[in-house]
Amino acid sequence: LATHFLDRIEKSDLNAFLHVDRALTLAQAEAADQRIANGTATPLTGVPIAHKDIFVTQGWRSTAGSKMLANYTSPFDATVVQKMLDAGMVNLGKLNCDEFAMGSSNENSAFGAVKNPWDKSAVPGGSSGGSGAAVAARLAPGVTGTDTGGSIRQPASFCGITGIKPTYGRASRFGMIAFASSLDQAGPMAQTAEDCALLLSTMTGFDERDSTSLTAEQGNAAEDYTRDLNQPLTGLRIGVPKEYFGEGLAADVEKAVRAALAKFVELGATLVDISLPNTALSIPAYYMIAPAEASSNLSRFDGVRYGHRAEGYKDLQDMYKKSRAQGFGPEVQRRIMVGTYILCHGYYDAYYLKAQKIRRKITQDFANVLGSQCDVIMGPVAPTVAWDLGSKADDPVANYLADIFTLSTSLAGLPGMSIPCGFGEGEKNAKRPVGLQIIGNYFAEAKLLNVAHQFQ
Ligand code: GLN
Repeated sequence: LATHFLDRIEKSDLNAFLHVDRALTLAQAEAADQRIANGTATPLTGVPIAHKDIFVTQGWRSTAGSKMLANYTSPFDATVVQKMLDAGMVNLGKLNCDEFAMGSSNENSAFGAVKNPWDKSAVPGGSSGGSGAAVAARLAPGVTGTDTGGSIRQPASFCGITGIKPTYGRASRFGMIAFASSLDQAGPMAQTAEDCALLLSTMTGFDERDSTSLTAEQGNAAEDYTRDLNQPLTGLRIGVPKEYFGEGLAADVEKAVRAALAKFVELGATLVDISLPNTALSIPAYYMIAPAEASSNLSRFDGVRYGHRAEGYKDLQDMYKKSRAQGFGPEVQRRIMVGTYILCHGYYDAYYLKAQKIRRKITQDFANVLGSQCDVIMGPVAPTVAWDLGSKADDPVANYLADIFTLSTSLAGLPGMSIPCGFGEGEKNAKRPVGLQIIGNYFAEAKLLNVAHQFQ
């Protein structure tokens, strides 16, 4: 199985993988074979997996898509990587992504853009663009991704696959190269909800090495996420937020999403009109909070402890300056500057604190409807299908605006997923997939996965 996928990866021209090492992979495959032979296998033993290059791995380089870490190899495995290894899964390699997971099209990677396998002139989405492309092109049966503001859901949508971001605190952030710590969450991406359920079961659980990891008492006990996969949807109340269907939503995306909603009605669900009034504020709030946290997290890349160090510097300050100017790409530098600015004394209250207050309001929007008015919420993942490579590469704000439907879920810490529900229209978009977003209450992953599974 590992050889099959390694051969496909070798022939692929999508730039989805950043680091493949056949010998390392085959050594893990052999260990898996032994486990199968001696009766200690789990259901996932021998199943190949590939990791977004945000997860550190022993053996394979861990770059976070950045020149800063171009030659970095970690002395340990991230908890998520370790858990999958413990289950006997076989690592195929490391997947391309936007630099430090900052982006929506994978074009911010220091190692080049990734092509969308459905239409090679389109972006795969981001920041887990390599993850989305790898599953869609069948270079891996399942992969890991990380989602800070949509980076699992949006590339899953653009690549026509399934992905789930669990409740914040479910999966350990230990060994996940930090972007915005109060938002970062790991999750699986695969062809189906059933595959995602199997993968999620191995990835989650309390980890004392992550200070925001949720304990079993808080609701994060080990779970078999496949357990509810055959529940009928009769009586399921689906909240349809009017803010997700307004101006800016492309007609072809709306059509595919509405058709999916109609199919859920056929499956026994009812649609409920709801409102999430602060949705539009998620963009300014997220693009304050995430850069603020990033500016703090990325201060560790100083040319001393990790990563790139410039040559030919005058003194320590000059070494920091040159190393960071050379190691970080333009989007990362932009966010460090924005984040540093809004955390400054004198601006903190006006920007950072205000953004935190908006975050609370957005969280309250969901609390007002989930449970009382609806069981799950559905809408589009993104306002359009995948756009052309290069078409928004020089326009950060255009990229930020395209995150409108995924940011709120992250700010609230709720689980959300994307499942394929059709394709765009017109000559250009006919091959570009549309994703349906399903959002649930805290710890409702098993329910979301069943809802998705009934549709699939
Ligand atoms: N597109 C968003 C950003 O650029 C989300 C990224 C993510 O979820 N990692 O910040």
